[in-house]
Order: sequence, then C-alpha cells, then structure tokens
Amino acid sequence: MNVILLGPPGAGKGTQAKGLEERRGLRQLSTGDMLRAAVAAGSETGRRAKAIMDRGDLVSDDIVVAIIAERLDAPDVKNGFILDGFPRNGAQAEALDRMLKSKGMKIDAVIEMKVDDEALVERITGRYSCAKCGKGYHDRFERPAREGVCDVCGSQEFIRRPDDNEATVRGRLEVYNRQTAPLIDYYGKKGSFYAVDGMAEIAAVRRQIEAVLDRA
Ligand code: AMP
Repeated sequence: MNVILLGPPGAGKGTQAKGLEERRGLRQLSTGDMLRAAVAAGSETGRRAKAIMDRGDLVSDDIVVAIIAERLDAPDVKNGFILDGFPRNGAQAEALDRMLKSKGMKIDAVIEMKVDDEALVERITGRYSCAKCGKGYHDRFERPAREGVCDVCGSQEFIRRPDDNEATVRGRLEVYNRQTAPLIDYYGKKGSFYAVDGMAEIAAVRRQIEAVLDRA
C-alpha cells in the first residue's frame, strides 16, 4: 500500500509516518529528512539545499524529484511507502504521477492532516530531538521523564532544526498555503482522498489514519 501524507509543517506527518512504518511495514519517504541527511553529509545536493531550507523556501523540484525517483527504485519500498513532505507543489505532483506510471506503481490513499496555523507555530517552535537516536520531544507536550536525558538512549545531547524558529515557521506556513494546499483539490478530484483531524491527540490521529487505510 502506498500513501501520501499531506499537511502543513508540524501537522504530525513524520510522527504518523513512523508509526505506520512500525505497524504496517511501510517505508517512510521524507524528502525533508533526506535533504537534512544530504546537508549533514556535505554532499553537492546538501550544499545547494542548505540556505534554501534555512530560509523555509522550497528546494528545486529537480532535486527532490530525483531523490524520490531513486528511492522508489530501492527494494525496501516494495512493501509500500508513505510520502511525507512530497509532493509540495503542482509540478512535483505531476512529476510523481509520471514516475509512478512508468514504474507501474500507484497511490492507494492521499490523507490530508488538518491543523490550524496557530497550533502549528506552537508545535514546531517547541519541538526538538535527541541528537543520538532521533527521538522527538516537545517543550510543552512531551518532555523526557528525566529532564535533559533521552528516554530511549540516555543521551544528554538534543538538537533543534535551524528552520524551526517562529519567523521561518510563519514563512513555511505561507509557502504551504500558497504552493502545497492546492494539492488538496488536485488529489480530491482524483479520488482516494481522505482528511483526518490533525488537532487530535497522536493516538486519536493514528486511529483515524488506520481506519482510512483499512478501507482504502
Ligand atoms: P520538512 O522536513 O518536510 O519540513 O522539510 C524541510 C525543508 O526541506 C522544507 O522547508 C524545504 O526547504 C525542504 N523540502 C522538503 N521537502 C521538499 C519538497 N518536496 N520540495 C521542496 N523542498 C522540500
């Protein structure tokens, strides 16, 4: 089963995608994570993408389409995948359609996660993660059991994304509303489109997504 999670930054796409990886054996394909890995590795793609990402703008379609095209050829997506953060505009959606067709693949469900803008700013500016194992935390909603110590691996080092500050978040939301939100209509017209309430608690959102996938 192949799924697109559509929603603004901070909607919980990454959290839900990770849950689906564990429960359904689907592979999370997050272009944001892949680009951050390229930045950390200092690759040519990473060098080109870094300043754009720090500003909260979209990296060029060519780069992200090439990244996804390569990932879809890998054996680990054969059980199914979840696109998280891709496509992000009409050109990417059309490139994805062409790519899937040529590879004999299809999307079984597009799930929009609806969250209002002010909640997103609070969610994003408060989030951080363990530098060692990647476990996500939040200043208000999910603190480690022992302050300053990761619940999962015991590391005392935490990181925040450079683009998770308030000014950049507002810009990213603006980019989402202008460039990505029109995809709701694009996929709505194609069918296999569902919306869930992303304002609910993580477990409640998970149940809504599972119910969608059970009937998709
Ligand atoms: P994310 O982790 O999905 O919030 O993405 C972080 C940043 O990576 C975005 O603000 C963009 O700069 C870049 N990015 C991620 N996915 C895409 C995409 N599909 N198209 C263009 N830029 C992207």
